[in-house]
Amino acid sequence: MEDKTDGLVLRTADYGENDKMLTLLTAARGKISACARGVKKAGAKLSFAAQPFCFAEYVFAVKGGRNTLTAASLYDGFYSLREDVEKFYAGAVVLEACEKLACEGEESSELLVSAVRALGEIAEGDAERALVKFLLSALDGAGYCVRAAECPVCGEMPAGRMRFDFAAGAFTCYGCSDGAPASETTYRAVREAQGKDAGEGGGFGGEGSGADIGDGRRRALRLLKAYFSDKTECDLAALDTFLELGA
Ligand SMILES: [Zn+2]
Repeated sequence: MEDKTDGLVLRTADYGENDKMLTLLTAARGKISACARGVKKAGAKLSFAAQPFCFAEYVFAVKGGRNTLTAASLYDGFYSLREDVEKFYAGAVVLEACEKLACEGEESSELLVSAVRALGEIAEGDAERALVKFLLSALDGAGYCVRAAECPVCGEMPAGRMRFDFAAGAFTCYGCSDGAPASETTYRAVREAQGKDAGEGGGFGGEGSGADIGDGRRRALRLLKAYFSDKTECDLAALDTFLELGA
């Protein structure tokens, strides 16, 4: 049987002398493993398709539950991610999150679309913003949404020092829950990434400096890493490296 599907390579591992095993996120079948034969040989036609970040239409021969790569046509290889260490680690966070959130055999086109969009945005420049947006949408798709709106306890908009309640997935006033302390810049960065008004005072342009938004995004990434690990029991290790690089 032949299977044709859009896929993004999440991970590769050497297999034997000339082959690689690929882990892909596909639209139709979620996370799959596939064998790419001969791709380590010099001049192999399909070596481009057996690299992390490769987004292509893949064709597999499926036999006895095993997928063997037979053809691929490239949409985007996101090559610029390999030339810049910060972009590379930002891209690695996207792949890592996909690998941990996707299931085998489960339709995953939404996750695939947001991962590909995020890799494109990282390649073009704003890695922090792209990652905040991507993690929010990937977590939302997995059933773990993040609410940065009215405090779910008292109904007021939180301001100043506040908290993030992991169980509710929501920012609350400081006195309304016993969640993890969170800053207003974090809350604003999350709102901005969700396409909402960043908050009273006209967002990040109002008070303070333009550095607030970058600081807010880095804080939001640390919060999302903790939330991700709380919900999935998986650690986004590449995110630590990314944050250290930007520090
Ligand atoms: Zn409250």
